[in-house]
Amino acid sequence: MAVKNKKFLFGLKVDRQLDGDKMNREFLDKVIAEGGEGAAIAACMQCGTCSGGCTNIDLMDMSPRTLVLMVQRGEWEKVLKSNALWLCTSCYICTSRCPRGVRPADVIEAVKAIGIRQGVENDSTKFNQIFVELVEKRGILFEPELMQKYGGLQAMLAQAKLGIQLTLKGKMSPLPAKIKDPKKFSEALEKVGKQ
Ligand code: SF4
Ligand code: SF4
Repeated sequence: MAVKNKKFLFGLKVDRQLDGDKMNREFLDKVIAEGGEGAAIAACMQCGTCSGGCTNIDLMDMSPRTLVLMVQRGEWEKVLKSNALWLCTSCYICTSRCPRGVRPADVIEAVKAIGIRQGVENDSTKFNQIFVELVEKRGILFEPELMQKYGGLQAMLAQAKLGIQLTLKGKMSPLPAKIKDPKKFSEALEKVGKQ
């Protein structure tokens, strides 16, 4: 039987693998330009090892394996709509286990950046935006402020018990902390912004 009629070859689903000609170079190039240059996307053989080790796969609507395939195919609408982008915890287990040196976690980070540039808005982007604004303001995060801005009074009350426990154990300050050199921090931010 010819290879193209086989559904499986050495345990791999043949119909899931893409050869170079079928890859959508435009989206692939965008992902590469956005930080996925070392991600070796084209080397993915769809073995699923990454998905097997993914720590948050139960909550994701797209596994890292599928996400890499969708990027190869240029199915950017599906990728940008996927909650996997925002539920990925960047634990890098997928990346450390990939037998082909593909870096799914880097692919996800790159696609996230594209999504943010394209104006994707959801709870995660809102959280990220507030997080960055607060760190820019103080140079260090003050968790109760983040909670209040993100989820309002209700979220603060819901987390109050945990906040008190963390404070009593010295893991969280009840008042905003100050950084040693705010001027140096501002200069560093400015430098990053110019890059
Ligand atoms: S482990 Fe690597 S080669 Fe296998 S599906 Fe995931 S990214 Fe592709
Ligand atoms: S980095 Fe993201 S995709 Fe990879 S294993 Fe961790 S949660 Fe899953």
